[in-house]
Amino acid sequence: MSTPLHGVSVLGATGSIGRSSLDVLARHPERFRVVALTAGRDVGKLLALCERWEPVLAVIADATLHSTLAQGLRARGLATRAASGPEGLIDAARLECAQVVIAAIVGAAGLSATLAAAQAGKRLLLANKEAVVCAGPLLMAAVRAHRAELIPLDSEHSAIAQCLAGSQAHERDVRRLVLTASGGPFRMRPYLADVTPEEALAHPNWVMGRKISIDSATLMNKGLEVIEASWLFGFAADHIDVVIHPQSVIHSMVEFGDGSVMAQLGTPDMRTPIAYGLGFPERIDSGSQRLDFLSMGSLTFEAPDHARFPCLMLAYRALREGGCAAIALNAANEMAVQAFLDRRLAFPDIAPVIETTMCACRDAAPTTIEQVLEVDRVAREVAQQNVAQRTSVGVT
Ligand code: NAD
Ligand code: MG
Repeated sequence: MSTPLHGVSVLGATGSIGRSSLDVLARHPERFRVVALTAGRDVGKLLALCERWEPVLAVIADATLHSTLAQGLRARGLATRAASGPEGLIDAARLECAQVVIAAIVGAAGLSATLAAAQAGKRLLLANKEAVVCAGPLLMAAVRAHRAELIPLDSEHSAIAQCLAGSQAHERDVRRLVLTASGGPFRMRPYLADVTPEEALAHPNWVMGRKISIDSATLMNKGLEVIEASWLFGFAADHIDVVIHPQSVIHSMVEFGDGSVMAQLGTPDMRTPIAYGLGFPERIDSGSQRLDFLSMGSLTFEAPDHARFPCLMLAYRALREGGCAAIALNAANEMAVQAFLDRRLAFPDIAPVIETTMCACRDAAPTTIEQVLEVDRVAREVAQQNVAQRTSVGVT
């Protein structure tokens, strides 16, 4: 029996997850057809991808680059339609001929398109964790209302989904979810005041986009993942633990009420969770290396150091506090990370910027996407002021 061909829309196609997704898709031309590709600003890369994949639709988020994209497509003799701006991203998420949407835009910028994919009832392969952090309840409600199928691509959440598969995923059956964290590049470094962007971008185990690499260095990535796990799997903060596991072989675990602990293991390669999401319920080739138990050495575990990495506790606090705390946390983090990358903010000042912004944004939980975007906008303004007050403290 031949496998039906599925149309796939890749949002954030020029990024790290986008590249890994296209690598997996290229291994299965009989199963998948790429029908839409989107990028933030990199028209050159997007055009090169269009030449390779000949999608129905190509979208550049920065609307000022629309004509460059349209002309480039024409010059290459491609029938691909050009679109741009937030509406273009939403078009790509809703495209009729796409059964699968890979949500791999970084940051709250991906929120509207990710939500649109859920509202269009797609199989939503979710990497854009900031969308869940900002609008978890709205996104999960849309998935339910429109019978979308949400499969996480984040390696920890893919691991948890795989561990929970076939069990009743209720809090009464599960004692806790255990998210593993590599600890990032500064796990062993006692003082962080003089950390440079180059050092922070050099992750020991994973090659990723710039924003998530800094999030991994501060442990905010794990904090965002705790919030993400809470919404995706329906567990309260008290049922989600984080353990540092520097080898990144165990991608996360579930401890059940009977004492069993299920873990998912693999080499650190995002193509594995991507292939799981694309192939589900079947298992398809991802191209990742096999795990070699005899050469991998010891697997070790330690507690996170909350004094050096306060961002993790800030995320727990935002989850427990509710309201719009998680939106403020995420917005301030995005602003602080950018300021750190631009050398306008010292590494240890990232957490205080987030905390101060959370204290200033204490509204009730938003009930519409427009309200979420408005809280995000205000929180960014507050964070920007905070960054300006702390600018260039010990940064060169
Ligand atoms: P990246 O920076 O490598 O790529 C981001 C993509 O989004 C690019 O295609 C970029 O052009 C696009 N983009 C950027 N700003 C945009 C905007 N304003 N509007 C529209 N598009 C925009 O990031 P990444 O590492 O691929 O991460 C993407 C998402 O996946 C993030 O939410 C990240 O947390 C999550 N994630 C990444 C990894 C990983 O290994 N890279 C692992 C787990 C989860
Ligand atoms: Mg992860």
